[in-house]
Amino acid sequence: MNIAVGTRTDVGRVREANEDSYLVEPPIFAVADGMGGHIAGDIASATTVEVLQRETTGADHDPQSLAAALRSANGAILAKAKDDPALHGMGTTCTLIALDGDVAQIAHVGDSRAYLLRDGNLSQVTEDHTLVGRMVAEGRLSEEEAEHHPQRSIITRALGADDDVEVDTFTLDMAAGDRLLICSDGLSSMVGKDEIREIVTSFEDPQTAADRLVDAANEAGGEDNITAIVIAFGSDDVSAAAPGRHLADAGPREDTDPAADTGYHRAVEVMPARRRWGRRVAVIVLGLLLLAGGAVAATRYALSNSWFVGVDRSGVVTIYKGIPDEVAGVSLKEPHRASSIEISSLPEFRRDEVEAGIMVDSLEQAEETLDALEQLAEDEDFRRNLGGKG
Ligand code: CA
Repeated sequence: MNIAVGTRTDVGRVREANEDSYLVEPPIFAVADGMGGHIAGDIASATTVEVLQRETTGADHDPQSLAAALRSANGAILAKAKDDPALHGMGTTCTLIALDGDVAQIAHVGDSRAYLLRDGNLSQVTEDHTLVGRMVAEGRLSEEEAEHHPQRSIITRALGADDDVEVDTFTLDMAAGDRLLICSDGLSSMVGKDEIREIVTSFEDPQTAADRLVDAANEAGGEDNITAIVIAFGSDDVSAAAPGRHLADAGPREDTDPAADTGYHRAVEVMPARRRWGRRVAVIVLGLLLLAGGAVAATRYALSNSWFVGVDRSGVVTIYKGIPDEVAGVSLKEPHRASSIEISSLPEFRRDEVEAGIMVDSLEQAEETLDALEQLAEDEDFRRNLGGKG
């Protein structure tokens, strides 16, 4: 069956770097959404795509082989993280599709998604490996409620999280007129299912559909990196577009990354230089706000890979692994290290934020946050003494 493919990736409107990677090398297609802060998420997703490219070339594409390829990627990520402490805790989602004639084999870990469009209906093929996804599967939350749930991006399974990774596999029989969409959550968390269906249905050219999907996510706020691969099956007018030609056409449009020529997108690190902590309170406060702004990325990995700075029961500022909020009544935190800072030593206007928990991307950022809070406590002490003498 003829296929036509459209692909687009975009950093979105909020993030500084694009940590999504993708592979479009028919009959292999994959989206990987990296996480881990700084450049780590980028490396996790790019590593995955590199491993998949290597392991799927000339190999069988049965479900066991695809799952094995994802497990190889998992091992490669863990090996890199072991060698470099800065990469510790990085991970990535991956949704991989291999086409074999009329059959699509799918292997999947995380919350990137594969959707099937058939007869005007859009159905999600993959299950989200998220806490919210599990609640939907158990009937405790509707799909609509899940779309807006504040904890929707906490994932329960990822490549790079553990030595063993459970891979879901699916087999789909494709028919002419069907479309498959693979996307990162930067699309599915910003654009509702109805609108996705509308766009995938409306545009004959899959590249236009992919472009419009990314545009829609950006118009909705573009809070995360966005990647979409649209595969159209058996369209009459795509006979000239044989598999293989889609590689170059499907490259990132706004991306000058030379890696695009090899069929995968590797996000380039564009993080600003390491933040410097000045002594002035205003600078520290701004820095804390920036760190708190990283919360969306940090919440993705629950216990294994998130960090926050909060307060323990005796009022001591403490670094925690996990997230401050309970999800479905479950506590998702454990203390990592207590500091010497009492919450009462901080200026009042900072206490609420610390008590609520300041999410950070890494242990390193947690330590930086503690340093900043220590400085705040010292400055506060200084101010109090001044007040006492005046
Ligand atoms: Ca994402």
